[in-house]
Amino acid sequence: MEIVLETKNLRKEYGTKGMLFSAIDGIDLKVHKGEFLGIMGPSGAGKTTLLNMLSTIDKPSSGEIYYEGKDVSKMKNRDLAIFRRNNVGFIFQDFNLLDSMSIEDNIALPLALSKVKSENIKTKVENLGEFFGLKNHLKKYPYQLSGGQKQRVAAARAIITSPSVVFADEPTGALDSKSSSELLQCLSKMNEQFNTTIIMVTHDAFTASYCKRILFIKDGKIHARLDKDVSRKEFFKRILDLLASMGGAVNELF
Ligand code: ADP
Ligand code: MG
Repeated sequence: MEIVLETKNLRKEYGTKGMLFSAIDGIDLKVHKGEFLGIMGPSGAGKTTLLNMLSTIDKPSSGEIYYEGKDVSKMKNRDLAIFRRNNVGFIFQDFNLLDSMSIEDNIALPLALSKVKSENIKTKVENLGEFFGLKNHLKKYPYQLSGGQKQRVAAARAIITSPSVVFADEPTGALDSKSSSELLQCLSKMNEQFNTTIIMVTHDAFTASYCKRILFIKDGKIHARLDKDVSRKEFFKRILDLLASMGGAVNELF
């Protein structure tokens, strides 16, 4: 299977000489095309730091990050910005939609700087609107949509450029349980039908149970891995067991 993303001995240190603290402490990772990978771990474990480096928002202190074999960890900021625009999609906890723009314009935003023709953009937006159940909302504005709908707009926006990887940091963090389920079903469908590679950080076992594989991070290191070779419900139980084994009650961890 094709490897989309690979890291070698990835590290991130904070602080100054003599007082260095390793937020990410040597992570080796291979992500295949079409994976739906979850990253879990206690608060402060390094999840966001890891995601920000993988998505090229933040630079590692040392180690390498390869996208389809290309080392991006030492790319110049300007080249990296272009690389990111073409290869990386983002879904944030707080949606990050532009309030003054219509839903269709929000979805089309990543193509604003591209050379894609406006008719083609329009078709793409309509298709994605249909796919994410937003067909009747395209002319509306973010304030007219529910949290769940807004997050589906964010998902449509994230894949409009057909990126190599879509990153999501706590995408269900601001949603109620019904909207969370709907979004997760959409992400699963997107993963299956478009073969989109998704890497999602979450502290929530229910959310994580939609992933196909989970990495558990603790103290900046990979502590455990779990593959979904069972039903989602059974996977959910295994996730809870693993979290509990990582240190006391789940509620104490987060
Ligand atoms: P998580 O997302 O798993 O809760 P983070 O990646 O946000 O964890 O943080 C990992 C560790 O790195 C924490 O101890 C945090 O305090 C520290 N950290 C994160 N960002 C910075 C920063 N910009 N400067 C210093 N320390 C940081
Ligand atoms: Mg975090």
